[in-house]
Amino acid sequence: MAKKEGGFQAKVAKTAAGAATHAVKCPKCGEPIQPVKLVASERTPKGSYKFNEHYVGACKCTAKEVYG
Ligand SMILES: [Zn+2]
Repeated sequence: MAKKEGGFQAKVAKTAAGAATHAVKCPKCGEPIQPVKLVASERTPKGSYKFNEHYVGACKCTAKEVYG
């Protein structure tokens, strides 16, 4: 019986871990970290501009840094 319960718990834990990858919580404020798309314009040596898109994780305590 104990072995069966262990298997069930392991399955639940695996599912929870999979969901956690989509909603990572910040260890500081406990709020879910939202991926925020930032576009930074960079001037190339040739004099034109290129746009770098990247994602950063934003939560309550990093919102100021992310949104400026
Ligand atoms: Zn935070």
